Amino acid sequence: MAQDDVFKKIVSHSKEYGFVFPSSEIYDGMGAVYDYGQNGVELKNNIKKYWWDSMTLLNENVVGLDSAIFMHPTIWKASGHVDAFSDPLIDNKDSKKRYRADVLIEEHLAKFEDKIKKEVDKAAKKFGEAFDEVQFKATNTRVLDNESKRQALHERFAKTLNEGDLSELRQIIVDCEIVCPVSGTRNWTEVRQFNLMFATEMGSTAEGASKVYLRPETAQGIFVNFLNVQKSGRMKIPFGIAQIGKAFRNEIVARQFIFRMREFEQMEMQFFVRPGEELEWFAKWKETRIKWHKLLGMGEEKYRFHDHEKLAHYANAATDIEYQMPFGFKEVEGIHSRTDFDLSSHEKFSGKKMQYFDPELNKSYVPFVIETSIGVDRMFLSVLSGSYCEEKLDGGDTRVVLKFPPALAPVKLAILPLIKKDGLAEKAKEIMNSLKFEFTCQYDEKDSIGKRYRRQDAIGTPYCITIDHQTLEDQTVTIRNRDTMLQERIAIDSIVSKLEIEVSMKTLLRKLI
Ligand code: ATP
Repeated sequence: MAQDDVFKKIVSHSKEYGFVFPSSEIYDGMGAVYDYGQNGVELKNNIKKYWWDSMTLLNENVVGLDSAIFMHPTIWKASGHVDAFSDPLIDNKDSKKRYRADVLIEEHLAKFEDKIKKEVDKAAKKFGEAFDEVQFKATNTRVLDNESKRQALHERFAKTLNEGDLSELRQIIVDCEIVCPVSGTRNWTEVRQFNLMFATEMGSTAEGASKVYLRPETAQGIFVNFLNVQKSGRMKIPFGIAQIGKAFRNEIVARQFIFRMREFEQMEMQFFVRPGEELEWFAKWKETRIKWHKLLGMGEEKYRFHDHEKLAHYANAATDIEYQMPFGFKEVEGIHSRTDFDLSSHEKFSGKKMQYFDPELNKSYVPFVIETSIGVDRMFLSVLSGSYCEEKLDGGDTRVVLKFPPALAPVKLAILPLIKKDGLAEKAKEIMNSLKFEFTCQYDEKDSIGKRYRRQDAIGTPYCITIDHQTLEDQTVTIRNRDTMLQERIAIDSIVSKLEIEVSMKTLLRKLI
């Protein structure tokens, strides 16, 4: 199936099964704003729990924080967001569509990679086991030609971004003959910068209300509370502060479902270290974070690091963790070595010291910071994309199944009486009442058992138990595995211990250390 079709199916499946709804749908929706339904909120909460526990339970030196969305407007001056948090935009004069100039060029770069991959795949098929990919890439003229074009463009693009040269950015688009996907023409405007922060007013408008921003990242809440946490928690460097919360960006080119939203959620952790030790910690956190992703079992080959072409004004090293979505490898998480930029800047703008006294070195300094920053919604999309399967069954039917990592599944166990009569429904409810304190259970007595299995597959429930007449006699049930569809008979008493190992967050977290 074409990847475009897969993506469309994931979007409609999300709506049909209560994962994600377009916001304000009865009023025709709002661009790039979404609501999470009954299953979506559970999946989202589980993702957040996996992250939160991995940060705060597994690291004694990482603690949490929940700072406000509204912050003093000078914070955004100090952080550089007022002056520099903008995207380079370009319009096509024929279609009147607006694009991010950098994204148009990145997509063009990806085309060279696709061409190379196609050549490699073709040759691998042709030569079978004897195929030597390294040698092929080093000698095939088409591969070499595409690679040198890619490299030349990449260098020019990186230089242009670093210099912030907007007219050169436009020139690249012209020289690469990039066309508007809608009109198919190359009739481009100039490139302009557009600030992404939402502004609103605090206080009564009549008497000097002040302009405030909806935070575009949660990180600044951590920086301005750095000393509050350090002192009240008696934290010693190195230590981290983790936070989950909403962030807002007035994204102009908002496409691809929940990948790029105007209101979204971030899970950010700032790790404070001694100056000079930051690159070592950067490498450690890179390793820790990729392990966290890969442990979910959604395919090791679907992750890659992507080092930044252009380092943000505050960073001395930066990389993205990308996941292979149906529309290509895309950033899910950023890991940045932010130097002492933020704390020093807040020191300057607030006039307050942001220094830490290091008892071992017997001196004070502004710590350096490693940041790990992941979008909950992008993570959600990667989990959905990585789990969505359509499977042909023996009888010719197809089932849609979400093969979620069990610990993240919205519902862990479905409880299904074979029929409503003969006391089976009562028995099933009794089991439900005893298990609902252990994990999220769902009771369902409507329709044939086959249909009920399909419904649970479609929301990714790892296990279903069926209560039948034998249950009343010997206190056993059949338990069905979502992925293998195999069923076995087990005692009611052993359900908790069986599931505990397979679906609990603890099992997943244990593998992290
Ligand atoms: P992009 O280049 O895709 O705009 P970014 O590099 O600006 O992303 P960061 O500022 O590093 O993103 O934010 C950290 C994380 O927050 C991202 O890795 C992503 O998961 C998430 N994120 C950022 N912007 C959005 C958005 N508009 N919608 C959903 N998630 C987002």
